[in-house]
Amino acid sequence: MAFVFGAAEDMEWVRDRLISCFGRPEPIHARSPIGQLVKSIISGRTRDEISLAAYRRLVGAYPEWSDLACATAADIEAVIDDVTFPDVKARHLRGALDAIAACRPDFDLTVLGGLSVAKALAWLERLPGVGRKVSASTLNFSTLRMPAFVVDMHILRILRRFGSVPSKADTETAYGLTMETLPDWSAADLAELHVLVKRLGQTICRADRADCRNCPIGRRCLVAPAVSSGERATRRQISIEASSHSAAAARAEAAAAGGARSALRHTAATRKML
Ligand code: SF4
Repeated sequence: MAFVFGAAEDMEWVRDRLISCFGRPEPIHARSPIGQLVKSIISGRTRDEISLAAYRRLVGAYPEWSDLACATAADIEAVIDDVTFPDVKARHLRGALDAIAACRPDFDLTVLGGLSVAKALAWLERLPGVGRKVSASTLNFSTLRMPAFVVDMHILRILRRFGSVPSKADTETAYGLTMETLPDWSAADLAELHVLVKRLGQTICRADRADCRNCPIGRRCLVAPAVSSGERATRRQISIEASSHSAAAARAEAAAAGGARSALRHTAATRKML
């Protein structure tokens, strides 16, 4: 039987392997939708502990969202000055809060729960500084608990290396393909997968070095078999090997272009069934 790559069973296998390796993660602490939106806007490309501390300082300095909406970008920047690009994020935050205040003066975004995921994402992505990662995390990690897979840089890197999205897929493409593959997964399932894959990216499949030899999902990863056994893969090796799995990449590219779920399927000839 051919191995169906990119299908739900493949992601279930990834999840189970990661749980075996890391244990079952605790559920993500759910903030209010506006709280999660603010947290996500300031979190990009910043370590979790730093962005969490910055968020806590922000809500400490401005206990009401209406207070924060009155702060200047310079005020906000001064509070979050240790996150990456604090000036840009402060401006985005100001702009987003202004836009929300214009239609929701109480900053209550629970109304998004009455929309479809696609419409709620679109609503959020009209706000400054809100792309697919921020919008999806607002829906999935908050008390809204909507099924939207959060693709951060760790997850995008692993999905590309693993082969379930094209090697040059962007966040939106990776989001779309994953959601298409996992239409029946709950918000909690998707949040758990996010935490597990992110942990893999922080420990074993890092941006600059992938320890494929000790990777719990190496058996099915498209990069791992091509990397010389017994060695850790450098970024250059990963890049070369990732681009060499052309059959898989071509299928995934076709899926991205055409949105055809079936295009993500691998045959046994592309990769041996394990
Ligand atoms: S096998 Fe290597 S490239 Fe693939 S996910 Fe694991 S560490 Fe990353």
